[in-house]
Amino acid sequence: VSLFIALSLLAAWGWLAYRHNKVNSIEYQIQVGLRQHEFEPELQPIVDMETGQWVGAEMLARWRRAGRTVAYPDEFIPAAEASRRIKTLTRVLTERVFKSLDGGTLPDDFYISINLSPNHVDERTESAIVALAEQYPAFNTNNIRFEITEHGLQETGRRRFQDVVSRLKQQGFLFGLDDFGTGQSGLEYFSNLSPDFLKIDRRFVNAIDSPESIDFQLLKTIVQLAQSLNLIIIAEGVETEQERDWLQQQGIRFAQGWYYEKALPLPIFRQRLKDASMQ
Ligand code: C2E
Ligand code: CA
Ligand code: CA
Ligand code: CA
Repeated sequence: VSLFIALSLLAAWGWLAYRHNKVNSIEYQIQVGLRQHEFEPELQPIVDMETGQWVGAEMLARWRRAGRTVAYPDEFIPAAEASRRIKTLTRVLTERVFKSLDGGTLPDDFYISINLSPNHVDERTESAIVALAEQYPAFNTNNIRFEITEHGLQETGRRRFQDVVSRLKQQGFLFGLDDFGTGQSGLEYFSNLSPDFLKIDRRFVNAIDSPESIDFQLLKTIVQLAQSLNLIIIAEGVETEQERDWLQQQGIRFAQGWYYEKALPLPIFRQRLKDASMQ
């Protein structure tokens, strides 16, 4: 009998420990957060440096929980990717952006740039993307772009990834490489994706202030490569006038960074876009 009691206690303890871990795990909290609508998109403008006009915006995830400070992607995107919640998260955020901007007057060709984790590019994601573009009249294929990092693409998923991307590209959606040159995204991706645009990571843009650095040499090489392939270049993390000037001297036209604008909450972004269109 005492053995039975001991075993029962052990089982109960095991179950409690399991519950405890589950409830405290970030994956579980993300699931709850999604149910309670705690995730919000912010939009950071992408600017034409020649005119100062907004040509598009990148969608960035934020997690607002009652009684806590806002959480940034580094704290939850890796877990969301590992648990496949990233799919739901991306869909929920995209719908909020489209819904909010659909009624207003979007400038022609204005685009929303969405981060896609390559491991979650499958047929279901593909049909979700096509369905969203059909559902919101203001959003057509030219108003939606995708930023891909190599991060997390498993060998087994490569073929499927290429198939889905090439079908979406045929329909007119643009795909680009994010964080190019950082090791999250490298040369081999060129053949997998044949990108339409390339986002230069802010690490390299930062190096414009230190012309002696290796990163600055790499920056020049990356710019050359992108230009020889006729890719659209978007410089990320532009913070200073000096950086802007150098980029423009290289013939780069598009930039994103705090020098222009931080990521803005959706209602503010929408208002600013409206104000700009009435000028
Ligand atoms: P990213 O795609 O490279 O996004 C740009 C990051 O740089 C954003 O950080 C943005 O706020 C920040 N940034 C923009 N301009 C400047 C600047 O001038 N200076 C500095 N120091 N930083 C700047 P954030 O929002 O923390 O996002 C971090 C990363 O999380 C993103 O990097 C992206 O890879 C990932 N991420 C964000 N939202 C999503 C999402 O919805 N889905 C997926 N799969 N990934 C996401
Ligand atoms: Ca990005
Ligand atoms: Ca990036
Ligand atoms: Ca800098």
